[in-house]
Amino acid sequence: MEAARPPANAPAIYFSAGIHGDEAAATEGLLAWAEKNPAILKTIRPLIFPCLNPWGLVHNNRLDERGRDLNRCYGKRKPPQIRDQILVMEKRTFDLALTLHEDYDAHGIYIYEVPAKKPYWAEKLLAAASAHLPSDSRSRIEGRSAKNGIVRRKISPDLMPDWPEAFLLHFQHSGRTFTIETPSEMDIALRVVAHVAVIETAVAECLATR
Ligand SMILES: [Zn+2]
Repeated sequence: MEAARPPANAPAIYFSAGIHGDEAAATEGLLAWAEKNPAILKTIRPLIFPCLNPWGLVHNNRLDERGRDLNRCYGKRKPPQIRDQILVMEKRTFDLALTLHEDYDAHGIYIYEVPAKKPYWAEKLLAAASAHLPSDSRSRIEGRSAKNGIVRRKISPDLMPDWPEAFLLHFQHSGRTFTIETPSEMDIALRVVAHVAVIETAVAECLATR
């Protein structure tokens, strides 16, 4: 989905959701945000991938129909649908990239922020979601050290041989890259509005700081 006539000096923002099919509130949240904010959409240059794994969404499955975790397919071995997505992104740069996810192990919402530009934004994004969901307070999340729901670690291209989407975005496309994770065992309505709140805040920050 692309805006027809974006203003030339508007910030470029990348949005994606649904690469894991069992994370429905990510896709729902991205669509809810877009439907709620038609005026904002005209002030930015958006590139929106609302559902990168439609088969998985229909079948409530993290993987695609051939058993692939598509969020490990941005490195050397790319399936056709990821190659097609990358063609759309080719030669484009973004001021901000948001990839939306859910995690059934999560104790609350948490965010991966690839450390790039200061000041960092993850605290503000979690504060925006806090009216709807608690932050995940674990000190380790997915094997990485975390603080108040934030995983902020430097990444290098060889850290993971099978790149997730965030690696491609950080190394080739985007000045700021965030991965948002809502707790998929909690109420879906709250997870959706939490995604909306995070997106609204990130876009507002992007517009305010350019
Ligand atoms: Zn996911």
